[in-house]
Amino acid sequence: MRKVSIFGATGSIGQNTIDLIKRAPQEYEVVALTGASNIKQLATDAVALKAQIAVTADETLLDDLRTALQGSDVQAAAGATAIVEAAHRPVDWVMSAIVGAAGLAPGLAALAQGCTLALANKESLVCAGGLLLDTARAHGAKILPVDSEHSAVFQALVGEPMDAVERIIITASGGAFRDWPIEDLENATLAQASSHPNWDMGQRITIDSASMFNKAMEVIETREFFGVDPAQIEVLIHPQSMIHALVGFNDGALMAHVGPADMRHAIGYALHHPARRHLPVERLDLAAIGNFEFRAPDVSRWPALRIAREVMARGGLAGAVFNAAKETALDGFIAGHLKFTQMADVVSQCLEHMEAAGSHIDATMTLDNVLQTDHLARKAAQAVITGKAG
Ligand code: NDP
Ligand code: MG
Repeated sequence: MRKVSIFGATGSIGQNTIDLIKRAPQEYEVVALTGASNIKQLATDAVALKAQIAVTADETLLDDLRTALQGSDVQAAAGATAIVEAAHRPVDWVMSAIVGAAGLAPGLAALAQGCTLALANKESLVCAGGLLLDTARAHGAKILPVDSEHSAVFQALVGEPMDAVERIIITASGGAFRDWPIEDLENATLAQASSHPNWDMGQRITIDSASMFNKAMEVIETREFFGVDPAQIEVLIHPQSMIHALVGFNDGALMAHVGPADMRHAIGYALHHPARRHLPVERLDLAAIGNFEFRAPDVSRWPALRIAREVMARGGLAGAVFNAAKETALDGFIAGHLKFTQMADVVSQCLEHMEAAGSHIDATMTLDNVLQTDHLARKAAQAVITGKAG
């Protein structure tokens, strides 16, 4: 039996992971499941999967979790520290699917016990890619990508030497506003930004798809994960979301990964790697689909793509500032304090402010420094938002 833990079990990725595990429960011993606000789901899954422990990030919900687990053998715990402690419990495989920078510390703790980390939490790579990779190396742990584009690149690279890679192309659906007139974007509502044409995902990543902050994060993620030069990374709009990424080699060949828009493919690949097991995803009927379309992204529509390039050129802890500013701006948009198009302004101004404020961006990449920079960048971004509202 393989021992597994799922961090962010109650979310979109977590639930898809549980769906796969429930199809072969005899193969897995579930150690820890974590969530935050959705106590009912957390408790239901923890009991069904006979987990050792269920942890909520929200300390005020510990009593609710205890009540929901009454009569079962599942332990209950709460708080960010308890989540990190759960990540220290020995397992073979961990799904890292907490949303946001909160996924970094548990991811590092899981890697420190030498397991395989299936990484959906792209924010941790953007904030502290070098730290994650060094921690994995130091403890003989493996990181497998779960983001669909990076899983696609990973699969296209099987058996290929990295020095044969000329470029990596990640595709983008274009999100909710792909075909909107640019002048209408300013007044895009939360409901409009929260509906994705192709993928069924959590609300935050869906809005990030509309603004392309998701793709901007993924460009940085590509650089961190595969160690390529930023100039080798391209973004291509592909409205059908069936080609997830392409790798271009020195001889001009392009290897494309084609598959349905179903995260259970990338999750299942990371769960069974290096084997390819049957997965319950749609088989594409290419004759019925007929056409794949491609177009270049327009950076004036999606300034996040330009900001990602600036962040990679800056290096250091600029990724942590970028992520914190993006998360804060997203909170501002969800709360109705910012217009859709103002999110990119907040991120740019926060990066400028943090650069002017001194050496934080150049601090060594340790967990403490990343968290400190994250904290300062959130304050700076909040000040920009307050200034805009005022
Ligand atoms: P969701 O919002 O659906 O789920 C997030 C999970 O994190 C939930 O379990 C949530 O708990 C938990 N959580 C929220 N805040 C905290 C916190 N402060 N501390 C600990 N746990 C917390 O997100 P997704 O599943 O969509 O995404 C998860 C990660 O995977 C993100 O990094 C995202 O970018 C990435 N990803 C997602 C894809 C997708 O298709 N959904 C595709 C590629 C990457 P609760 O719900 O109980 O409040
Ligand atoms: Mg993706």
